[in-house]
Amino acid sequence: MRRVSGVRLSGVTKKFDEGEDQVTAVDNVDLDVADHEFMVLLGPSGCGKSTLLRMVAGLEDPTSGEVFIGEQMVNDVAPKDRDIAMVFQSYALYPHKTVRANIEFPLKVRRVPKAERTAEAHRAAEALGLADHMRRKPGQLSGGQRQRVALARAIVRRPAVFLMDEPLSNLDAKLRGDTRTELVDLHRRLDSTFIYVTHDQVEAMTMASRVAVLNQGRLEQVGTPQEVYDHPASVFVAQFIGTPPMNLLPAGLLGGEGVRVGVRPEHLLPAADGAVTARVHQIEHLGHEVLVLAESETAGRLVSRLAPGPDVPVVGDSVRFEVRPADMHRFDATSGMRLP
Ligand code: ATP
Repeated sequence: MRRVSGVRLSGVTKKFDEGEDQVTAVDNVDLDVADHEFMVLLGPSGCGKSTLLRMVAGLEDPTSGEVFIGEQMVNDVAPKDRDIAMVFQSYALYPHKTVRANIEFPLKVRRVPKAERTAEAHRAAEALGLADHMRRKPGQLSGGQRQRVALARAIVRRPAVFLMDEPLSNLDAKLRGDTRTELVDLHRRLDSTFIYVTHDQVEAMTMASRVAVLNQGRLEQVGTPQEVYDHPASVFVAQFIGTPPMNLLPAGLLGGEGVRVGVRPEHLLPAADGAVTARVHQIEHLGHEVLVLAESETAGRLVSRLAPGPDVPVVGDSVRFEVRPADMHRFDATSGMRLP
């Protein structure tokens, strides 16, 4: 029978002592991760995402609040009894053991019979494209292969919940892309819930079923990648998600008093009667699109994303841009929160 294992955090706070002071790493977070969901915790360095993950793993105790795995409140349950597997950025493989022995190790600890161990390890290795390397030692593998051994070792444990902390950050761009695809595939095939920590919004957007955006220990927004892109709950989310980030106009411009208007680069379009005038100071040709970087006396720095073609301006041009009302994101200038 398969286990149903969502993860629920209720009012979870973590404070660390720092000399006389206390640092609040995680601040009163409520988060419901559904069974079999791929939840990505996203935020800048220091926002508390690793600490949050470590509390789910049991490696850190909450200062207050409760952590549930499935129906069980696990605050007092030891990490090894939590039915989780954790994959970190550093692979922590046994250097003197072969790939096969590394992958089998968690099963050996559980005294799983040898034939079964071998079959399980083989299945995981096949899934991750490691089957040809089973007799090698970690030192004979590339970084990406080692990362996949660490993943395979976690998979054989068949945990209800997978916790991953920046597991792709050591890989080069190509391998990162490939492994991203593998992870999504893996998630589809396994019965596990995934919670994945990253500061890379592209990873979050490409893999997550939902993204939880954290800022200074607080949860800013939880939603599908499309939701957080289309309806960012705050200026912080608006600027953190999307490359290049959303343009934010000075308070009052186009939006009335006390309102900051945001506009995605693809919605900032040249128009003969556009309301914002700016001088082009750089053009970035990316092949499939062109980024126009411009400076406006009223609106500051702006980025516009255009399709390549004869209408793309050149450096030095003065361009008028328009923002259609439907494309405007409106934020409270003081609180930074989205306005209806
Ligand atoms: P990164 O992406 O850089 O790993 P993060 O979002 O995972 O960052 P955390 O590692 O969770 O952030 O740290 C959150 C905050 O808590 C930071 O200000 C950090 O300095 C602080 N912190 C984390 N662990 C400890 C600790 N053991 N003692 C004191 N402060 C800590």
